[in-house]
Amino acid sequence: MTEIKDLLLQILLIIVPIFIYHMFYAEKLKLDQRRRSWFHSFLNGLAIVLCMSFPVAIGMESRFDLRGIPLLIGTLYGGYETGAVLSLLIIAYRFYLGVDVGFYHTVISLLFIVPVFMAFYRVYQQADRTTRRNCTVLLSVYHVIVISVVYFMLSVFTFENAMSLFIFDIAFILASCFLVYMNENLRENNRMRSELQKTEKLRVLSDLTSAFAHEIRNPMQVNRGFLQLMYEEPLPPHLKNYVEICLKEMDRANLIISDYLSFAKPHTEDIEMIDVGKQLEQVQNILAPYALMQHVEIQKDTSGSCIIMANQQKLNQCLINLVKNGIEAMPNGGILLISCCAKSNGKVTIAITDQGVGMTKDQIKRLGTPFYTLKEKGTGLGLMVSYRIIQAFNGLIEVSSELGRGTTFSIEFPSIEPVELRQTS
Ligand code: ADP
Ligand code: MG
Repeated sequence: MTEIKDLLLQILLIIVPIFIYHMFYAEKLKLDQRRRSWFHSFLNGLAIVLCMSFPVAIGMESRFDLRGIPLLIGTLYGGYETGAVLSLLIIAYRFYLGVDVGFYHTVISLLFIVPVFMAFYRVYQQADRTTRRNCTVLLSVYHVIVISVVYFMLSVFTFENAMSLFIFDIAFILASCFLVYMNENLRENNRMRSELQKTEKLRVLSDLTSAFAHEIRNPMQVNRGFLQLMYEEPLPPHLKNYVEICLKEMDRANLIISDYLSFAKPHTEDIEMIDVGKQLEQVQNILAPYALMQHVEIQKDTSGSCIIMANQQKLNQCLINLVKNGIEAMPNGGILLISCCAKSNGKVTIAITDQGVGMTKDQIKRLGTPFYTLKEKGTGLGLMVSYRIIQAFNGLIEVSSELGRGTTFSIEFPSIEPVELRQTS
């Protein structure tokens, strides 16, 4: 029983620093890489000293502790410096506790363990959650193997020792998986919280700017009206030319505001008949400057008439999200093809094909889940919104992708009723 009590105490000693870290992180303690590394070193160092001070006595002779877990967490999340600092701390503290066989065991094990932990740091930083969990299991197993092998190199092999070590190994692997899993969940929750705050801010900003855009349009309409009246009056040719230019520019400004409004605030739920070809052209115009910046050429293939029933603004928003993702998937530029075609059964398919980085099957599965993003400044909300919009118009979305080659998003919309077709013709 005391062993279990000691083990639980060890786990608690590691959990507390993890919580402290996330508490401060959640309170938006802005840390750069260097400070974060020191913060990790300090908290995990504390956990290590406490773990080593209150070890678990399994069997008569052996005393174990879970210092390897803060070392693992510290190195994988804090980096090389943290790994080095924590290793030195372990050696120094073990030296302070007395130079015996345990001390040599500690030093030799660390020589094999820490470089491997450090080697996984970069992998860990770029990996998704599943890979991180798998890495943790792998590293925990590696850790206990090293500890056990070094232990038997330095001590006499007895059945009792082997049993104690075996129990410790199992406890170590289970505890480290649990603690890293918990740490990952806390990280994810914090990330989601700050993303939510960010999107909320953006929403407010977008509401405000839409309101402004709307308000600016009213005086502009008045101006346009008077310009039109002037244009109809007999004017000298050069003045007529000026007024004509004013009118054109006014219309262009109006169009920009309309595009912005449909992008920022897709409010109305009205469903209407939409010519997808025209819609794609609009999306191409809106995103042309962005594509140019990323050295992406947008090509359009909209032969035939593709008519669907949808809300224009929402469809616009959805297509912009997909095209923008396609552009962002090509950091070195390339060609993005947007096309639509109407099948003989009346169904309309829109395809957006890029030559970008592509995705794995796992990544495709996660598309559309809130906050799933692999981009540094991504929100992971674009596809979620797009999927919902497509669903609302009874569309089906299909993704095919090959890593390093590119991705195609195809959306199929149902055919429109013949009755509705007749109404408009
Ligand atoms: P965000 O663009 O803010 O990251 P999205 O919901 O639009 O959010 O996209 C989620 C993730 O899906 C992206 O971070 C990216 O990893 C992946 N993704 C989406 N479209 C593509 C694409 N065309 N090619 C490769 N990856 C893509
Ligand atoms: Mg996006």
